[in-house]
Amino acid sequence: MEYNGPVYRPPMEAETFLIPVTEGCTHNSCRFCNMYKNVEFRMLSLTSIEEFLVETKKNYSQFMNQLDRVYLLGADPFVLSADKLEDIISLIRKYCPKVQIITMYAAVRNITIKTDEELKRLADLGVNDLYVGIETGSTESLTYLNKGNTAEEAKEQCLRLNAAGIRHRDMMMPGAAGKGKLLQEAEESAKLENATKPDMIILTTMSIFPETELDKDVKSGIFTVPPESEVLMAEKRFIELLDIPDTYLWAAHSLDSTRIAGLLRDDKENMLKHLQYSIDTMDDEKFRQTFRRNHL
Ligand code: SF4
Repeated sequence: MEYNGPVYRPPMEAETFLIPVTEGCTHNSCRFCNMYKNVEFRMLSLTSIEEFLVETKKNYSQFMNQLDRVYLLGADPFVLSADKLEDIISLIRKYCPKVQIITMYAAVRNITIKTDEELKRLADLGVNDLYVGIETGSTESLTYLNKGNTAEEAKEQCLRLNAAGIRHRDMMMPGAAGKGKLLQEAEESAKLENATKPDMIILTTMSIFPETELDKDVKSGIFTVPPESEVLMAEKRFIELLDIPDTYLWAAHSLDSTRIAGLLRDDKENMLKHLQYSIDTMDDEKFRQTFRRNHL
């Protein structure tokens, strides 16, 4: 199989079998993102997906026979129609007969184009734990970042996932609003997450990647990167306001300066204490000299 990648997957899928399904991103114009800049979107043919499964099975038959979870590669493979996803899932089941969960990245716009019946059908086929790039609960920030949806649309589509029985894991980006606006943004983000009740919230701190529109805005002074202390205070405010005890919060990415993770019901207080310790002891100037936050 020819796959031109690049390969990105959520950190918690590090041990999951990855199946190439799409290349690139159908949107590819978020202001902060350079992950798929030079990659044209394409769906791999069913033939090449099957070739990949056949080849892997030749060498790892026992492994594939035992798998209960697989991850579909691409920036937003959930853009594929329900029928195409069903064809892919049928292939996966042919070679991995015990698979229970098929997970992948899904953009808000990918959910919008599916009917409630299609979402329910996909849930019945094992599609679950979708990773949804929410980023922020502030429509002002989403618009500036050119995310392609409002906070209200994100809420509506996540609620449709809930109704269909598809759990979602929301990717949030503390720091997205820029200096001076983070506390208000944290409140809007917490409101959104409380309403949509994700299974998991994944925080990856806003970073300025080279050759992005955001990078240009920073250089021209349109966007001011917030000091780390403001990012952490906003993250703390966000977590304080969360009222979803069954949600697992994970903020331990290499882009996160203070790494915390836990179930909100049991670990919220400890995570808040940890953040407060960083806020009290962090020296923004030293942080800038020691931390590299310009690539994934
Ligand atoms: S953040 Fe996601 S949706 Fe936006 S351009 Fe990057 S890969 Fe595409």
